[in-house]
Amino acid sequence: CGIVGYVGGASKSSGAHGAVDVVLEGLRRLEYRGYDSAGVAVLGDGGLEFRKKSGKLTNLVGAIEASPLPVSLTGIGHTRWATHGGPSDENAHPHVADEGRLALIHNGIIENFAEIKQELLAAGHEFASETDTEVAAVLLAEVYRGEAAGDLTRAMELVSQRLEGAFTLLAVHEEHPGVVVAARRNSPLVVGLGQGENFLGSDVSGFIDFTRRAVELGQDQIVTITPESHRITDFEGNPAEGKEFTVDWDA
Ligand code: GLU
Repeated sequence: CGIVGYVGGASKSSGAHGAVDVVLEGLRRLEYRGYDSAGVAVLGDGGLEFRKKSGKLTNLVGAIEASPLPVSLTGIGHTRWATHGGPSDENAHPHVADEGRLALIHNGIIENFAEIKQELLAAGHEFASETDTEVAAVLLAEVYRGEAAGDLTRAMELVSQRLEGAFTLLAVHEEHPGVVVAARRNSPLVVGLGQGENFLGSDVSGFIDFTRRAVELGQDQIVTITPESHRITDFEGNPAEGKEFTVDWDA
C-alpha cells in the first residue's frame, strides 16, 4: 500500500539521515492511505535486518524499540493492505529470501503468483507466508543467484518481465550496501532526489520532509538508486527516462 526507500551518504557527518528514521517518517506520511501491517528492512554493518508487525505503525515502532535496528544508510519500508493472506506478522512485508540476504516489499497484486509458486516449490524453495509478494522475493533471489549472476538490477528486470498484474517492487541485498532497486507496472513509483542521498516513494509523501525534487517513473520501468545516482531502464535493460518535477504543495 505505502512504500518508502532510502540510500544515504557514506557518513552521518555528510548530513545524511539515518535509514530507519527516514523510512519511518515516510511511512507516517503515507498512513493516510490506510494499512493493516508495517515493516522495515535495513542494511547494516552486520548485513540485512528487518522488523515487521501487523497492526498500526506504533506496533512496528515498539518492535524496533524492543530490538533496535543497526545504524544504517540503506533502508526500505512498507505499509500493507492485505490482498493475499490475512493481516499477520508473517504476511507483513518485507519478505526475505536468499537465506536472509535479500528483502523485498510490494504494492499491488501479482496475478500469476500461483503458477510461479508451484514452479519454485517444485524446485525445493520454501515459503513462510501466504502472500503473492513472497513469490516475487523468492523468484528474485533465484534469478539473482542464477541467470543474473549477482546483478540485482538485472535480476529485477528479469523478474519484472515474468510477473503479471500490478506491482511496485523495492529490493535490497546485503551484497549491495547503498543500493535500492525498484520496478513498477500499473502501480506508481516516484524517486526523490537529495544531496548525497536519494529516496523512493509510492507517492511523494514518502519523502516530502526531505526533498522536493522528484522523478516520476513511467510504465514498466526499473530504477536503481545509490546516494549519488539514479539510473532508469526499461524491463529489458535499455536506458529510459522518468519525468522530473518539483513538489510545490505545503506538507
Ligand atoms: N498483494 C500484497 C499482499 O497482499 C501487497 C498488498 C499491498 O499493496 O499492500 O501482501
